[in-house]
Amino acid sequence: MNDQIEPQDPEESKSGAEQTPTPTAVPPQGKKKAERPSQRPDVSYTPVSNGMDYLVSVFQHLTEGEKPPGARALKYTVLHLQAATEVLLKARLSQEHFSLIFADPAQATYDAWQKGDFKSCGTLEAFDRLRGIARLPLDVNERKRIKELGESRNALQHYGLTHNAYAIESRAARVLEFLITFIHQHLIPGLDNWEATRVENSMDSFRLQLKGIETLVKQRMNNLRTELATVADVTVKCPDCEMWAMVADGREEGPACLFCHQVWADEPQSAAANYAWIVLGLDRHSAIHDGGDPPVTACPDCGRWALVTEAVTVKSQPDIAPLCFGCGTVFENLIDCEGGCGTVLDIAPDGESIPMCSHCIEIRYARF
Ligand SMILES: [Zn+2]
Ligand SMILES: [Zn+2]
Ligand SMILES: [Zn+2]
Repeated sequence: MNDQIEPQDPEESKSGAEQTPTPTAVPPQGKKKAERPSQRPDVSYTPVSNGMDYLVSVFQHLTEGEKPPGARALKYTVLHLQAATEVLLKARLSQEHFSLIFADPAQATYDAWQKGDFKSCGTLEAFDRLRGIARLPLDVNERKRIKELGESRNALQHYGLTHNAYAIESRAARVLEFLITFIHQHLIPGLDNWEATRVENSMDSFRLQLKGIETLVKQRMNNLRTELATVADVTVKCPDCEMWAMVADGREEGPACLFCHQVWADEPQSAAANYAWIVLGLDRHSAIHDGGDPPVTACPDCGRWALVTEAVTVKSQPDIAPLCFGCGTVFENLIDCEGGCGTVLDIAPDGESIPMCSHCIEIRYARF
């Protein structure tokens, strides 16, 4: 399993102290402290307010400035959204017990936690511990989104931005929605009164801004409605932006998403594999391991390895409609070759055709 995200954002912090919930992660501010003797800690740098700060930045980058956001704004959207997610999940985890934010809780000591001097767990690990140990009812789909966010972040740091503005915007909106609900339901109840009030104060503005972003996404989808209506039978959910706007109609340039403009140029095979894995959660390896059919197979029409047998289209949903991402054919009479070779055939149930591929027929005839 190599799905852990390096917890630190090199641009933001070098040590674990800043992003790791510790009870007194407050830098010494000697002069101010002396003037204001309060039993209340200085709140500026608590993990929760640190996470909220990242969120403020995410909203700024998404909503202020050019539309859609430019490359720099998108970069900080991804980086800070990832950081916010990590910090806020861990803040909740530390409410459960501080040892749980250690990479290895067995090695946890109170001293190390106080100093912020330890290797902390990854974001996905924090998510899993919140589900498995704190028993929060978190949706596994959110885990997928957080994982993708982490992957985008890593890709961004190593190869620059690969996703386009619309995809990032709509995906960020989903993660923001998750975080806002998470903060409200799971984080605030465990905070001290003063901090809960502080966080609550930012929430209204967050909700309003999120609504603005969601409205933009909706408007964009509405503008595409007429165009999409004509291709409903070959339109599926886009693995990049998660909108129902990926059209696989056999067009020459390859499957394309009308919403985020992602194009799988001349690569219906990888579009099909991408879709099966990211949207349907099916991959070839585990399908075969579980004794099932591979999610993507050879198309009886065009021969390309781009037939997704369990695709769900705008028209067919919630039912499946086997769709070839290469030629755009929707199959109604798919059967497995009775020769047991694994080939998928398109044969009408008229009782006359032999339910076998030509190869298997040949072998059978050769025997007699
Ligand atoms: Zn898309
Ligand atoms: Zn085909
Ligand atoms: Zn066969």
